[in-house]
Amino acid sequence: MEEQIRRIGHQIFAGMPKKSPSVFQKDFWNGKIMDWSMRDDAFKVEMFRFVDVFPVLRTPEQVAQHLKEYFCRPEQDFPAWIQLGMKSVSSGSLVARAAAKTIEKNIQGMAGGFVAGVDGTDALPKLKKMRAAGLGFTVDLLGESTVSEVEADDYCRRYGDLIDTLADAASGWAAAPQIDTDAYGPIPQVNVSVKISSLFSQIDPVDFEGSIEGIMSRLLPLFVRAKDRGVFLNLDMESYEVKDLTLELFRRLAAHPDLAGYDHFGFVAQAYLRDSLENLRTMCEWARHSGKRVTCRLVKGAYWDYETIHAQQSGWVIPVFQNKWESDENYEACLRLLIDNHDVIRTAIASHNVRSLAVGLAYAESKGLPPNALEIQMLFGMAEPMKQSLLDMGYRVRDYVPVGELVPGMAYLVRRLLENTSQEGFLKAKFVDDLDPDLLLRAPASAGADVEDPTPEAEFVNEHHTAFHTARARAEFGAALKNVKAQLGKHYPLVIGGQRFNTEQALYRYNPARSEELVGTSACAVEADGQRAIEAAYGAFPAWRDAGASRRAGYLRALADVIRNRRFELGAWMVLEVGKSWAEADSDVAEAIDFCAYYADVVEQMGQGVRLGRYPGEMNTLAYQPMGVGVVIAPWNFPLAILTGMTVGAAATGNCVIMKPAEQSPIIAAKLMECVEAAGFPPGVINYVPGIGETVGAFLVDHPWTRFVAFTGSRQVGLNILKNAYTTQPQQPGPKRVVCEMGGKNAMIIDSDADLDEAVAAVVYSAFGFQGQKCSACSRVIVLPENYDEFVMRLAEATRSLVAGPPDDPRFGFGPLVDQEAVAKVREYIEIGRAEGKELLVTEAPQGGSFAPFAIFSEIEVRHRLAQEEVFGPVLAVMRARDFDHALEIANATSYALTGGVMSRSPSNLDKARAEFRVGNLYINRGCTGALVYRQPFGGFKYSGIGTKAGGPNYLRQFVEERSISENTMRRGFAPET
Ligand code: NAD
Repeated sequence: MEEQIRRIGHQIFAGMPKKSPSVFQKDFWNGKIMDWSMRDDAFKVEMFRFVDVFPVLRTPEQVAQHLKEYFCRPEQDFPAWIQLGMKSVSSGSLVARAAAKTIEKNIQGMAGGFVAGVDGTDALPKLKKMRAAGLGFTVDLLGESTVSEVEADDYCRRYGDLIDTLADAASGWAAAPQIDTDAYGPIPQVNVSVKISSLFSQIDPVDFEGSIEGIMSRLLPLFVRAKDRGVFLNLDMESYEVKDLTLELFRRLAAHPDLAGYDHFGFVAQAYLRDSLENLRTMCEWARHSGKRVTCRLVKGAYWDYETIHAQQSGWVIPVFQNKWESDENYEACLRLLIDNHDVIRTAIASHNVRSLAVGLAYAESKGLPPNALEIQMLFGMAEPMKQSLLDMGYRVRDYVPVGELVPGMAYLVRRLLENTSQEGFLKAKFVDDLDPDLLLRAPASAGADVEDPTPEAEFVNEHHTAFHTARARAEFGAALKNVKAQLGKHYPLVIGGQRFNTEQALYRYNPARSEELVGTSACAVEADGQRAIEAAYGAFPAWRDAGASRRAGYLRALADVIRNRRFELGAWMVLEVGKSWAEADSDVAEAIDFCAYYADVVEQMGQGVRLGRYPGEMNTLAYQPMGVGVVIAPWNFPLAILTGMTVGAAATGNCVIMKPAEQSPIIAAKLMECVEAAGFPPGVINYVPGIGETVGAFLVDHPWTRFVAFTGSRQVGLNILKNAYTTQPQQPGPKRVVCEMGGKNAMIIDSDADLDEAVAAVVYSAFGFQGQKCSACSRVIVLPENYDEFVMRLAEATRSLVAGPPDDPRFGFGPLVDQEAVAKVREYIEIGRAEGKELLVTEAPQGGSFAPFAIFSEIEVRHRLAQEEVFGPVLAVMRARDFDHALEIANATSYALTGGVMSRSPSNLDKARAEFRVGNLYINRGCTGALVYRQPFGGFKYSGIGTKAGGPNYLRQFVEERSISENTMRRGFAPET
């Protein structure tokens, strides 16, 4: 077919008017910006970041300040004329005001190049003009994420209005045969594209059916309205995580009885996805049986960078082709498949690549299809000469036309800017580099310099979190839950020195979400059991100490493997025992695996000892030795990860350990003990001793033979342990060491230029994920005046939209508190909040378990209890700051220093936060929970703790004693070489 492809391609090129597309015209401001951005990557980053933040800047001073911060930093070496220009703008003078106005005009103009108006009515004149020029349209509403159901309702209403406005207007339009008919007859004049992410705020990959239901409840009425008004409705495609969801939704909608007899619906295939051809085959098969002739818009895909980065960060297989030619080649294969199925599916070729277009047109021609059997789609404001040429050739061309405000439209605008400046883009190749048409029409093929899938440049790679957007992962987790449910009610004895012991008393653990469901019972150790455990551990100690770091590292790696093999099962136990959601339980297991694997690496390195100084005749080494027997006292909120981390950290370095899990989570600890045994640890190295903290816990802490205590838990208990452990007794071999990780009162600051979509989502998850029961949870949010009202309103609505229930059911991403005591405490703090501040939101708690309301209080001040005391539940305090400095002051004004977050797009405020926001873990432009081993070593100071960071390179040093050995190697004036 190459000859026909070249013929049609050349014809398209030949018909293009000489004028370059508007974005590249250098006499316009945005043409210049594009030009600089293509030349200088560093400039491009700053420029696009500036464009992104611009719409939220309210005053000329803010604009000036941001210009200075983005373009005039000392380390930047942009051309002097750019920096000078920006400096004069940022001087704060009258010039600055005028310049800010000009920039505003320019950015508005730039956006106006890609966006047709603020809504349907506003866009009408442009749409009419396009039709007069022979161009069809599909209109889309800008905005891609909704954080609350109120916002989703609003989007839904606006889509409805859009359909009505356009349909009303169209009733008066003259027919334009080239665009209003295809090979099968008339097609709707009005064409609208919708995005599912704007129609439901609680889309959750874990909850496939619930997500479909949620979206369907708003989308079906829109589809029905489109049918009634004779409008074409297209379901747009967004990120890979919702791809399967979107396709399934489309199939269900298209088959819905309310839509019988109407064909004018479309879906999208993204050829940059490796599985797109296969998915398209399924869709063709489906179309063949559906009795409907729907449309498929074939695109290459607009989220390539996002998909690549997101998959890499998550440790997932990258879903998009890494080489541009592979996407191009796959695009052609998809096109041929679609055209082969033209009797059951209509094809819209959406591309700005002349080669891709020519392939479709040539192939359709070879199949004897008339020219109007295919539709060609391009983006509003791009590739105008191409459109003209194709129109002149008699093809049906449709523009994808976004409407909306600038702020929600920024993501779209930045994608367009990236696309236009991409080094690999067709538009740049044609209209900027002016490459030879023959070159541009060549079949996609490797140029021999292909990139492999990138792997992160790190010596340690984290265990990936489960990709719940795959049906397989959901099915496996569901099956694990079922399997675990069949094992409820068992009893778990103590495991000491490899032997099992029962006790008089037992700990009963009921599912906190279903109070009548007994998850299991464990033994409840008393002092005598503690004594036995210490003796058994000392029995195992000498051999374990002398086993050497590499062998011990081997046991840790074996444990990582065992946990990995039981991954979903262990997750399921946590869902039932402490009420974690699927995703939270899954990341808890992943973290436990990481601790084993990472500490194995670290201890191996430490095992080699350190050689110090290279002086002749002298050999200096630093070696590490374990301390002996230690006690690990763990909390219930990361019942596997934290228990595992402290235990294997201490054991890796040669110590023997007594695990004292929390009363609320003895079962998952018993499962960890099973894993330890399966990994082959020698008996007595790790012992399982569940029991009451105040009795056996205190006994173990006080025991004179205990050499160290590793504790994570509340401040009150932690301080008490410190006091007791540091009190020496006569028989004691030496003072104890205590690793003590305690609570937090963590704040997130929302700067005046923050991206509020992201800020609301980050705060909501940080504050209410796992019902706020994380030491890292955000419990204070500090907001600057410019954003206060809007942020607080959206935050409350977003929180109101969360749905809690028993988390074994994937419909519920939020569950119960750990027990009734925790609920009572939360209720007490709700009363305190009501007395101290203003109630913004207190939700209804579900019945049937330890569920608590989710609560937000505003007007909280530093002196209030809600600003100072850890609640450890879903209670969030909103605090008002005068400016960024004040916000930092408030953030630091607690006795804790664990995590903190800043949402800001001001480089200088971020610098300030780096220097002055004094917390153990500072998070910038993301939520403040979810630290990963090695990447974000975790732990705080002040009353948040006194350890070195868990999951960090120095953690294991806390469990060893250092020995420095110096040898004189000179004998009779002779020494070996150093
Ligand atoms: P908790 O302090 O009530 O219990 C922690 C552990 O201490 C349990 O195993 C308990 O049995 C034991 N214990 C209680 N009294 C004891 C005593 N007198 N002697 C010895 N042991 C005793 O804490 P929790 O409710 O299980 O966990 C929640 C707390 O943990 C929160 O304050 C949270 O912030 C903190 N936490 C901190 C981190 C961190 O890394 N800094 C991580 C997770 C949890």
